[in-house]
Amino acid sequence: MLESRVRGMGLAQYASDFFVREPMNRFVSGVVLAVSLTGCGVSTQQEVEMGSQYAQQINQQLPIVQDVELNRYVNVIGDSIARLTSRTDLTEANSWRFFIVDSREVNAFAVPGGFIYVNRGLIERTQRMDQLAGVLGHEIGHVVRRHSIKQMQQQQGANIGVTLACVLTSVCNSQVGQAAIQVGGGAIFARFSRQDEAEADAEGVTNTVRAGISPNGIPEMFKILIAERQSNPSAVAAMFATHPLEEDRIVATEELIAQYNPAIIRSLPTDSRNYQTFKQRIRMLPPSPTPRSR
Ligand SMILES: [Zn+2]
Repeated sequence: MLESRVRGMGLAQYASDFFVREPMNRFVSGVVLAVSLTGCGVSTQQEVEMGSQYAQQINQQLPIVQDVELNRYVNVIGDSIARLTSRTDLTEANSWRFFIVDSREVNAFAVPGGFIYVNRGLIERTQRMDQLAGVLGHEIGHVVRRHSIKQMQQQQGANIGVTLACVLTSVCNSQVGQAAIQVGGGAIFARFSRQDEAEADAEGVTNTVRAGISPNGIPEMFKILIAERQSNPSAVAAMFATHPLEEDRIVATEELIAQYNPAIIRSLPTDSRNYQTFKQRIRMLPPSPTPRSR
């Protein structure tokens, strides 16, 4: 039954990788020029520089949760996964950063250089630590595989900061933002290729296992979101509207997990007291900013 309901669903449901496809904007034109000059060979320094500038824009435009404890926790769990990936260059550059977007909508996305954003609405829908870890592992995977750089080199013209503010959270806090959506709306919803998503899924499994966390949270998060679509469609409408469902993504992640020794997978923690404390603290935040109609 589940299979038929989840047909076509991808991990990208909550991993808004399509945002990463629109990273060029006037704020970073200098950096972009440097990239185009070097072609495929983007250095770590260039990647971090680009990512920092995008992150700066994004953080100005999106409502970011400022609570110190919450930020500390999401960075601890994110770092525990990121520092064991093949991107030791980003770890050495101390460039991985994890942010919580104060939005009720379900989403997450990654920016080159290791800047990872996850919506409060997604965290609130998790039940256990391994489910958030899976989302982070997937987003980290896009950075690890340099998908975001590739997209960056292919796309031009959007103002990523204001675009994200409107699209990711529905919080359009400027006329500029609304104009950007109208101009760039079509392209903004472009997605990563199926292959990139499959790679990020695989990275998600590998990265969580390597970090000593159960990878089962990845397919389970799909099931949570599918259930949400049944019971509360509006909360996940934007996400589902921009991401076709791909059942094979769930099957694929389950198959990857099945390749491990089951005893090892069973031994990996799925939850922690700290995670439940974290979730409790999230619930105690004031309500997220009210989305404006766009
Ligand atoms: Zn993705």
